[in-house]
Amino acid sequence: MENFQEQLKDRRTFAIISHPDAGKTTLTEQLLLHGGVIREAGTVKGRGSNKLASSDWMAIEQQRGISVTSSVLQFDYEGKRINILDTPGHEDFSEDTYRTLMAVDSVVMVVDAAKGIEPQTKKLFEIVSQRGIPVFTFFNKIDRDARHPLDLVDELESTLGIQAYPMNWPVGSGHILQGIYDLRRQELIDFPNATPHPEVVDETMDEVELLQDAGNDFDQEAIAKGKLTPVFFGSALVNFGVTEFLREYLNYAPSPAAAKTVDDREVQPEDEQFTGFVFKIQANMDPRHRDRIAFVRIVSGEFNRGMDVTLQRNGKKMRLSNVTQFMAEERENVQTAVPGDIIGLYDTGNFQIGDTIFSGKKAVQFPELPTFTPELFNRVIAKDVMKQKSYHKGIDQLVQEGTIQLYKSWLGSDYIIGAVGQLQFEVFQFRMENEYNTEIQFEPMGSKVARWIDPNQLDEKMSSTRNLLVKDRFDNPVFLFENKFAMNWFMDKYPDVELEEKM
Ligand code: GDP
Repeated sequence: MENFQEQLKDRRTFAIISHPDAGKTTLTEQLLLHGGVIREAGTVKGRGSNKLASSDWMAIEQQRGISVTSSVLQFDYEGKRINILDTPGHEDFSEDTYRTLMAVDSVVMVVDAAKGIEPQTKKLFEIVSQRGIPVFTFFNKIDRDARHPLDLVDELESTLGIQAYPMNWPVGSGHILQGIYDLRRQELIDFPNATPHPEVVDETMDEVELLQDAGNDFDQEAIAKGKLTPVFFGSALVNFGVTEFLREYLNYAPSPAAAKTVDDREVQPEDEQFTGFVFKIQANMDPRHRDRIAFVRIVSGEFNRGMDVTLQRNGKKMRLSNVTQFMAEERENVQTAVPGDIIGLYDTGNFQIGDTIFSGKKAVQFPELPTFTPELFNRVIAKDVMKQKSYHKGIDQLVQEGTIQLYKSWLGSDYIIGAVGQLQFEVFQFRMENEYNTEIQFEPMGSKVARWIDPNQLDEKMSSTRNLLVKDRFDNPVFLFENKFAMNWFMDKYPDVELEEKM
């Protein structure tokens, strides 16, 4: 076995971002097929007999036909070990989706070539682009009539503010699809069983010339910084262009990166000291155990089962013996893992989102994960007034875990909870009932634009029905504006008041 420093060079840890229905699941399946994890497509979404599916946690997933929380898939392909961190693709995505993007080294962006950049893709891209990590674009569904590729690339550059570098170019699409032209090797990859349309090939070759004269230069550094995205075309459904994509992706995507600590030191993945951070906590994967799993991204050093670590936040020492890693089909007990890998620690309430763990004596602290501005709000009340104690305990713990964000009315003591997606409320309600035995009731407030305001600039009279004054869980004042118009109106009225998008 190679040492871990050698092993980590072959790690590729990424997430796929897309708008629902662009083909993320289908592409994931093709990648798993490449890795030999599954033998036929169509097995990921309909996993009825999967043992995870029997848990009550999964009941929500099954009811809704979506994955509530991101899971991790690991497989090998051509000497590389690939970790895909899945991000829910439904409109009702949650903060977990965002936080998962803090734990990857690169991102694959799947775009429907008939539709172009859709809202959720843009939203997720914005989160990713703040981190400055590489983004690889896959325009999917070229087996169907697609928009003109120049048009798609233009839109990509203008709506997302990133430069594009086409790696290949579709030759026709839909029923006249001839293949893809590999721009770097300068060769046509034929679409199997295409009906020949020589004029389509001629037209495309003219475009290709244009691209080569006028397009961006290939710049590996710009790719590494997320300023330039390599662009690929293909069809996940018919597995065309996927192998080419995967090969180039593995070539240019980075291995696990160094990470900055709060005291501005750099932790190198090759360092002997084991370090990692918790980016997600998931409850009740297994109905027989009322425990949770803390997902840890390993930053440096080698993980060995049974090793001792310290939880930075409270100095607590713990032995990592009950650890899991997520394979495509089953959970396996891991013995060792290296930087870039994700391990799941069984947790009885020790961990919080953003926690750092480290081995040895030298304390390490990675920065907190960003919080995301919630957009949806509900007032929440306990149905049974006798259960106040478990109600408060449940809210406290679930807020700490990052399931939901908590606010209070400015004067009263009403609880208001905020989320980036509707699904978070459902998960919150489900867990309050199942883990804290407390039925709760929501009073929907709808979507709001949340903005923090400097307490020194605050005058309670600024508040109205269109901009509700509340406080966050640290008692900082926040305005919940009815909509952007209400916010703009406020800014016109109080030009000197500064509004902050997040804490
Ligand atoms: P997700 O919501 O992004 O995970 O999208 P899915 O992978 O579930 O795909 C949504 C729909 O698009 C499904 O009906 C897929 O069969 C279909 N689809 C995915 N990729 C392709 C493709 O390359 N070509 C065509 N024609 N359909 C596709």
